[in-house]
Amino acid sequence: MTLPILMTVDDDPSVSRAVARDLRRRYGQDYRVMRADSSADALDALREVKLRGEPVAAILADYRMPQMDGIEFLEQAMDLFPHARRALLTAYADTEAAIQAINLVDVDHYLLKPWDPPEEKLYPVVDALVETWRAMGDRPVEEIKVVGHRWSQRSYQVRDFLARNSVPYRWYSVDEAEGQRLLKAAGAGSEEIPVVITLDGRALIKPTGADIAAAAGLSTEPAAEFYDMIVVGGGPAGLGAAVYGASEGLRTVLAEKKATGGQAGQSSRIENYLGFPDGVSGVQLTDRARRQAHKFGAEVLTARGVVGLEARGSARAVRFADGGEIAAHVVVLATGVMYRALDAHGCSELTGRGVYYGSASTEAQACEDEDVYIVGGANAAGQAAVFFSRHARSVNLVVRGKELEQSMSHYLIEQIRAIENVRVRLGTTVSAAHGEEHLERLTLCDAASGATETVPAGHMFVFIGAAPHTDWLDGTVERDAHGFIRTGPDLLAEGRRPAGWQLDRDPLYLESSIPGVFVAGDVRAQSVKRVASAVGEGAMAVTMVHRYLEER
Ligand SMILES: Cc1cc2nc3c(=O)[nH]c(=O)nc-3n(C[C@H](O)[C@H](O)[C@H](O)COP(=O)(O)OP(=O)(O)OC[C@H]3O[C@@H](n4cnc5c(N)ncnc54)[C@H](O)[C@@H]3O)c2cc1C
Repeated sequence: MTLPILMTVDDDPSVSRAVARDLRRRYGQDYRVMRADSSADALDALREVKLRGEPVAAILADYRMPQMDGIEFLEQAMDLFPHARRALLTAYADTEAAIQAINLVDVDHYLLKPWDPPEEKLYPVVDALVETWRAMGDRPVEEIKVVGHRWSQRSYQVRDFLARNSVPYRWYSVDEAEGQRLLKAAGAGSEEIPVVITLDGRALIKPTGADIAAAAGLSTEPAAEFYDMIVVGGGPAGLGAAVYGASEGLRTVLAEKKATGGQAGQSSRIENYLGFPDGVSGVQLTDRARRQAHKFGAEVLTARGVVGLEARGSARAVRFADGGEIAAHVVVLATGVMYRALDAHGCSELTGRGVYYGSASTEAQACEDEDVYIVGGANAAGQAAVFFSRHARSVNLVVRGKELEQSMSHYLIEQIRAIENVRVRLGTTVSAAHGEEHLERLTLCDAASGATETVPAGHMFVFIGAAPHTDWLDGTVERDAHGFIRTGPDLLAEGRRPAGWQLDRDPLYLESSIPGVFVAGDVRAQSVKRVASAVGEGAMAVTMVHRYLEER
């Protein structure tokens, strides 16, 4: 069997030997560890590996090497093995350069020398590298096959769903011979895409999210009818509540409409979450959280949207969109927010066919050699600009406001200014999107002069704020004028408790206008829209749940 490769390169042979020794000790069973004493030797070795068709899982390169430094080396190595994960080995004095490399060259981590003890300093980093590679890399594994059209909205949704749930899949276009062969074997016509072929060879024609989730081995059915706590929404807040609830002994189930991770799952790199100095991709962070929730015994249901909430005596029941219901002593609502739609002519018809909400990392490869447009002036748009600058020929950040400082973090503005192929177009809006099958052109409008310009564009990613997912709660819990759910002190208008409130106490801090229904994260009125605060509120909601259960 061909073992995937872990490559380490350092111009100091004693260091390169020592790193290789430590890597072999832990990973030698499952990976072949290769080492080189210079960038040139390492590149030669990687070329040979490429010709032999062997997979490379991760590359660890020293930063300071003569002739070619570690950053330059990693850039060249990426041309050979774009999916291999990358880490820089640096001395303390070079930390600054390493951090810049993380942002500009897409290095996953940096490691400070010395890395002793490896159990604490080296292995957690390499574990993360190989874990990411295993989830997304190019290793030869059994994969679900998706046959579809690059410009079909539903095909895009299927790929996005699988990617966000960290389910490995292989994509086949109906335009290619292999795609046609698979369609024929599945007995489907070109108009019946997408077709998903499961690991056991079943063909699912135009499957629903729940069909795909079940085929991918994700849970969709609750194991019980009654729980201590139901969490609605699987973003950071919901996952936080599930981890803390289950770890504290509550029988917990989490129902997620699409894929766990929520908005955070769309972030290419979260840099301000405590404990991740090199940043972490949203998919990685939430994949770990999901596994953590499982470890403590929480059930996580994917592709199960909730459409109803009802108080029945002391029980709280929720109803699923596709039928069925479950009940619990308490419910935590953590349904977050979703992107606002761009109000420009032609946009809705082209959504999923060149116009995307969120950063749609599945589209990164399709953007090669293209001029990409990103709309929005806040951090989410800034992160996407940095991300796509590595894939596209150029990135145009279209910002309605007159300056970025009003809406974007300072560190991101600095990063964007340092990237040559990102152009920021301030005071500009998108007034129309044009294209037959796929986005072809955009009309941009200069807000000050009203002048318009039509530019060629194949991909536009929109980040223009968000609205809460609470329409289904209309008439059930109290919401503010924008639809965010009111909680705790916010419910006490002029000292009066909410209508229908029958308890002899005020609502607890994260409690909604229904006792025993708590709210966490972005969907809560007055919440801070951050990953850390969402996770924190998820944990805090569990403390309130305990208090509520004790008083009953
Ligand atoms: C691209 C991007 C980059 C970001 N970068 C950062 C960053 O670097 N740092 C930072 O701190 N913050 C960042 N944020 C903000 C951060 O991601 C959010 O504040 C955080 O995800 C909020 O978590 P949440 O769990 O409250 O809601 P969400 O993440 O919105 O999750 C809500 C979940 O609930 C599900 N859901 C909705 N309705 C239902 C229903 N009826 N039934 C079942 N499930 C439902 C949704 O599908 C979703 O998965 C970023 C956001 C985006 C979009």
